[in-house]
Order: sequence, then structure tokens, then C-alpha cells
Amino acid sequence: MNLQHYIGGEHVPSVSGATFTALEPATNEEYLTVSAGQAEDIEAAVAAARKAFTEGPWPKMPAQQRAGILRKIADAIEKRDDEIASLECRDTGLPITQARGQAHRAAQNFRFFADVITTLGEDVYRVASAQLNYVIRKPIGVAGLITPWNTPFMLETWKLAPALAAGCPVILKPAEWSPLSASLLPAIMEEAGVPAGVFNIVHGIGEEAGAALVAHPDVPIISFTGETTTGQIIMRNAADNLKTLSMELGGKSPLVIFDDADLDRALDAAVFGVFSLNGERCTASSRVLVQDTIYEEFVQRFAERASRVKVGAPDDPATELGALVHPEHYGRVMEYVQIGIDEGARLVAGGSRPDTLPVGNFLSATVFADVSPKMRIFQEEIFGPVVCVTPFSTEEEALELANDTRYGLAAYLWTNNLRRTHRLAQQIESGMLWVNSQNVRDLRTPFGGVKASGLGREGGKHSIDVYTESHIVHVATEDLPIPRFGAS
Ligand code: NAD
Repeated sequence: MNLQHYIGGEHVPSVSGATFTALEPATNEEYLTVSAGQAEDIEAAVAAARKAFTEGPWPKMPAQQRAGILRKIADAIEKRDDEIASLECRDTGLPITQARGQAHRAAQNFRFFADVITTLGEDVYRVASAQLNYVIRKPIGVAGLITPWNTPFMLETWKLAPALAAGCPVILKPAEWSPLSASLLPAIMEEAGVPAGVFNIVHGIGEEAGAALVAHPDVPIISFTGETTTGQIIMRNAADNLKTLSMELGGKSPLVIFDDADLDRALDAAVFGVFSLNGERCTASSRVLVQDTIYEEFVQRFAERASRVKVGAPDDPATELGALVHPEHYGRVMEYVQIGIDEGARLVAGGSRPDTLPVGNFLSATVFADVSPKMRIFQEEIFGPVVCVTPFSTEEEALELANDTRYGLAAYLWTNNLRRTHRLAQQIESGMLWVNSQNVRDLRTPFGGVKASGLGREGGKHSIDVYTESHIVHVATEDLPIPRFGAS
């Protein structure tokens, strides 16, 4: 199979003819050749998108009409439900049952932002009776969307839907390790009636295609999801043109369990929170902090459950934990397992490839206990099925441990003490906190992190703020006094 860029409504190869190959995580065999975009391909995509912005109907279209097209995109996605799930499963190694949910959520993203854009009001302020101020929200311009390889289709549409809803033409640069499901988007957009030039894809390596998109002066916004270190590079490179940046970055989220919690449910949440989506999840609860009174019992039950998580072929409906996305990433995760052992953490489950799966990027669900905050496995994002368990005795100590990393994306709290819940909710350093709950949220709520986990928020009207600029109009409705400099 051969994937090309999609620019101005046409499938095109790279100007240079360069390509790269993608590997199938379950076998590590090459199965896809992809055009490798460079600066000249980004230039062509920006020209097409810029034309759609300045001359095309999309930015000026009434919100209702644009929303109608977004709803057709959602229908076109749902029609391809099975196909999206099977491409995503093959391309990323995600278990098929979990890949299925991604297509549904992608369709929901478009329906949701169709509703947001048609219900969003604009602000009017009356200054005394003599002056009216009102705020128009204008699409910011061509939006550059740079996305990671984990749940790629869902995360791509999480950016595409609000950007298109706001009236921006877009250039999507999918992650090079998971380019496949995005190849369905051109047909989906065409079927829904998105005008040529409004939606463009340039595939390629981050340091080439991604960097060229970040450097381009006619792309006023970059919405990026990926690693913190990449986000830092993008910020530096975007500084020359003072771009708007939205950054959804890495995490090392704590799940804190007090001895008054419902321990069975807390255990279910801890297992699901770090081993679902192969542990390749930004909000994964990768640090489990447990009160010392229940610590040993919890570690034992956690290890036992982890050892029963079914690792297997991604396309097998019984599989709970599939293949990690790429041999390079697999190598990095395995290195962290060795680091944990060398640092003296107690390996109580997993830690190696299952004997039944001799090829592909498979790792059993891995649990380290007695992890101290000084260890690298406590501090650094591993982004795989590896979890650290650490004991605490008091609420103060739990808080200190929860906040003791550079990250601040999500946090999870398990307790039945009402006052403690609200005390900690105000002090935990994270963009989001779930209490006695797994990771579910209403799409209207702001999604994002603090500290090294990101900048800005997306979700609901927060996403529309990212892709629009406010333009304030001041109108005098009566003659107001104007100081008469130079008149006397
Ligand atoms: P990554 O940073 O390696 O790559 C992300 C994207 O950036 C890719 O498309 C890549 O090609 C591109 N890129 C790389 N270098 C670039 C450069 N110099 N200029 C422009 N673009 C460049 O991240 P990844 O490994 O694909 O994804 C995993 C990371 O994403 C994890 O850290 C995870 O926590 C994070 N993530 C965060 C969220 C969130 O919402 N906070 C969601 C999902 C994933």
C-alpha cells in the first residue's frame, strides 16, 4: 500500500519523491510506504489552505451550514466504523475491541463541535448608554495540526473538528508511526462536501514536515499533541512568528488510594487506568500511591490482576493488551523495565515478553512496587504497560508524592472522605482530577494539563477560543466628549 499527501483536493506524492515505510507492531514487518513531506510539500499545502481561507467559502459560511457539513463528516465516519477500527488496530497494535471505541468517539467529536458552533453567542457590552462594544470571533487562519501515534484517528479528529467548526482551513501532519487511518479522511471530507483546500494532509517525519509547518509564516496557529520535549522544540521554533500554540503534552498521572476507599473499585480503576490502550495513553494512571495500612494487600491484588491481563494479537477480540506501536518505542519501554530493576524497585508482575508471543512488540502488564520518588521510573513518562506503586502514610505525604513530578495532566483520587476530597482537589497539581471514577468526561469541559503537561485547554468553547481570534468593535451611539487637543 502507498499513502500520499492530500493537498488542495488531490492525492499527490512528495515533490522530492521521498518516502518512508511503516511497520506493523504485531510482526514488525513493513507493510506501508508513505510519502515523506518536506518544506516544499508544506509550502504547497499552505498555498492551497491559504487560498481556501482568503478566497473560498469556508470561513464565511454561516455556522449552521458549516455545522451541517460537520454532521455529514460524522455520518461518513460511522459508515466506516469497522474499517477505521481494523486499520487502527493493524497500524498501532491497539486491541481491536478498544480500537472500535475510537471511531465512535471520532464521529462524536464532529457532532459535538457542530452543536458548539451553532450555540456559541458573541459578547456585547454596553458602556453607559452611549457606546456599544461587541466581540466578533474570527477564524484565526490556516491551522497546523500535529498529532501523536496513540489513538491517532480520535486525536486527529479532536483537533480537526473544532478547527473546521471555527472556519479554519487545516493542514494535518499525522504521526509517522501511525499514518494509516488518516488515509480515510480525504474520502470522508469529500463525501461530506468539504471544499477542496480546506482539509489537507502532509505526511512525514516530525523534524522535516512537522518543523516546516511550525516555521511557516502563513500558519498562525499550531495545535500540537505529543511529547513534552517536542513541545519545547516547537515553542522555540514558533517564536520567530509569535504563533498561537495549543500544547497537549506528556503525563505521569498519580492515582491515590486512601484506606477508606472502595478498594475493589479502586483496584479495577488502577488496572484499567494503566493497562488499557496498551498503557500508551497520556492520562494513564502510571503512579499508584497507596496508604500504608492497605499497601501490602493492595500490591498483592494488583500484581495478581496484572498477571491475568490478556496480552495477545491486536486483532483477537479476547486481547486486553496488544502490541506496542514500534520497535524503537518497545526498546525504550523495555529499557525502563531494566532501569526499574537496577534502581531497586520490586518487580511483582510482568517485566518481559510473554513466551507465547516471540515476535512483535509485546510486553506483559508490568508492576513495580516500593518505588521511591527519586527513581527515574517514578519521574519519567514510560508510555507503556508499566506502573509504579508507592506507599504513603498521611494525607500530606500523599499530596507531596502526587505533586512530585514535572508533569500535571491528570490525577485520580480514591477516598470516601468528603472534606479530604475537596482539600486535595484544590492542591493537586493537575489539569484534571477524577474522584472515585475512571477517566470519563463531558466534551464541554476543558481538557489539558499544567506544568510540563501542556499549555492552554481544548474542549467545548475552549477549543473554539484556540482556533479563533476575538475582534472588538467599539461604536459610539451618541456624541461623546473628545478631549480637544490643540483647539485652544
Ligand atoms: P512526539 O512528540 O514524538 O510526536 C508527536 C508529533 O510531533 C508527531 O507527528 C511527530 O512527527 C511530530 N514532531 C516530532 N518532532 C517535531 C518537530 N521538531 N517539529 C514539529 N513536529 C514534530 O510524540 P509521540 O511519541 O507521537 O506521542 C506520545 C506523546 O504524546 C506522549 O508523551 C503522550 O503523553 C503525549 N500525548 C499527550 C496527550 C494530551 O492530550 N496531553 C494526548 C496523547 C498523547
